Amino acid sequence: MVELADIVRRAGPEYVHAHAGGLLASQRRALDDIAQCRTAAMGGSVSRCDTCGAVRYHYHSCRNRHCPKCQEDRAQDWLARIQARLLPCDHYLLTLTLPHQLRAVARRHQRVVYAALLREAAASVQTLAADRQWVGGMLGILAVLHIVVYFDSHVLRRLVMRTYTAIIERDPDTGVYVGSVPGFPGAHSQGDTLDELQANLQEVIAMLLEDGEKPLEAEFVGTQTIRVAQDVGSIPVF
Ligand SMILES: [Zn+2]
Repeated sequence: MVELADIVRRAGPEYVHAHAGGLLASQRRALDDIAQCRTAAMGGSVSRCDTCGAVRYHYHSCRNRHCPKCQEDRAQDWLARIQARLLPCDHYLLTLTLPHQLRAVARRHQRVVYAALLREAAASVQTLAADRQWVGGMLGILAVLHIVVYFDSHVLRRLVMRTYTAIIERDPDTGVYVGSVPGFPGAHSQGDTLDELQANLQEVIAMLLEDGEKPLEAEFVGTQTIRVAQDVGSIPVF
């Protein structure tokens, strides 16, 4: 079976070369990690069986959250942990969706919106369950956030690269980076790191562009350094 790592090893360097300007550091790192996961490049360890003396070499995993090899192990661990918590009764799957109109807000403020979504979804289901007409009791709920990306497999999309300039500020209290594209309504986001901010801005802008490209309402020109004298107190003059 062809693995993602095989594809990344074969086509990765050419892809990175072709998209050099549009790749985030985290995306390059993911490609490197996926290509090198559980290979000699990651280093490894040796184990020897005390009984038969057989020797085995294990290459280390990359632990990148985008690596399917590493994710598969974590997914199996997670499933085992969840299955151990299941109650001896019937379980039902409920799907609650976020209205399409809220997608832009959700991408921009992922932590806040997804936390609110899970909290309110659980509360709504509990309210319904408490009603004697439905369950008349309290439910045990396991909530999982599931982000679905739709592709139209019959249409090959033609992509063009657009470049935008964002103004970035850092909140001195929280350390969070806040960025916005001048003249582009809605094109603002935040992140704990500059990489995260750039990824969030990319998503927000991509989504705003889904409805068609709009001309910028103002054009970024540059910054100016303004010198102003400020009176900060007096010094004695003899
Ligand atoms: Zn890996």
